Amino acid sequence: MGKIGFIGLGIMGKPMSKNLIKAGYQLVVYDIVKEAVAEVVAAGAEPAGSPREVAARCDKFITMLPNSPHVKEVVLGDNGIIEGAQQGSILIDMSSIDPMVTREIAAKLKEKGIRMLDAPVSGGEPKAIDGTLSIMVGGRQEDFDECYDILKAMGASVVRVGDIGAGNVTKLANQIIVALNIAAMSEALVLATKAGVEPELVYQAIRGGLAGSAVLDAKAPLVMARKFNPGFRINLHIKDLANALAAGHEVGVPLPLTATVMEILQALKVDGLGDADHGAIIRFYEKLAQV
Ligand code: NAD
Repeated sequence: MGKIGFIGLGIMGKPMSKNLIKAGYQLVVYDIVKEAVAEVVAAGAEPAGSPREVAARCDKFITMLPNSPHVKEVVLGDNGIIEGAQQGSILIDMSSIDPMVTREIAAKLKEKGIRMLDAPVSGGEPKAIDGTLSIMVGGRQEDFDECYDILKAMGASVVRVGDIGAGNVTKLANQIIVALNIAAMSEALVLATKAGVEPELVYQAIRGGLAGSAVLDAKAPLVMARKFNPGFRINLHIKDLANALAAGHEVGVPLPLTATVMEILQALKVDGLGDADHGAIIRFYEKLAQV
């Protein structure tokens, strides 16, 4: 079994890489933050000095980076994966990025005989720690089959949704649903509070009915406990909705609710909450309603 490279050891990448180590894989890791590398090396990985070196030492490599420009730089830039990777090797990009950029990167890699899957995830830090992420994969069936066991070490559900880029299209759909749900929950809880009903009791009363959801159960308790440390940063959700709006424009699909929630997130960012958890959407409503 060849070594696996892992680049991007942030909130998600750290626990995901540790789960691969626990599953018995030998990892070669890289991040620009040295402390992050040290932590995963302490768990059993080997460090590398650049994405190029990671690629040269492995036949499969995973990236878990913030956005499209970071993935482009790490894969195609100076000292990037493309400079070190051998023919036949596979990049699994698990970052949530613009699907058009995924396809652009895959085409450049293909010229060198390097294969690619896009495999963004849903579930956040708790499911990354438990190894129970939902992983949505785009790419060729045979490449998916070859990487399935690796992905299964990080996820409870690993589904191939189509060819390259399809994983990130699916992730955009996921991010629209999550953002709009948090906004709906916030709007409702602030109404309840100002109308004199305990939000905790509202949550308990409705969570088993049609308004109940995974988003409500994950976010309402944190929001009511005023826990806004990330989690999933507002800045990253702005990135996802910007990618969704761009994709909507590209294929001709109006996204009016996404556009509205995007502006709410922008307002929070301007208010200094870009690095807060997206549960802080409720702060926008509280300010509006003077709660
Ligand atoms: P993060 O900011 O915590 O981690 C990103 C890591 O990438 C950091 O350690 C950073 O140092 C590293 N990095 C940035 N540029 C680099 C470069 N040029 N070379 C090497 N390393 C570099 O972000 P995260 O929350 O772990 O999210 C990663 C991706 O997963 C994002 O696309 C995000 O949208 C997605 N995601 C996050 C969550 C969540 O709940 N946090 C859930 C699902 C999906």
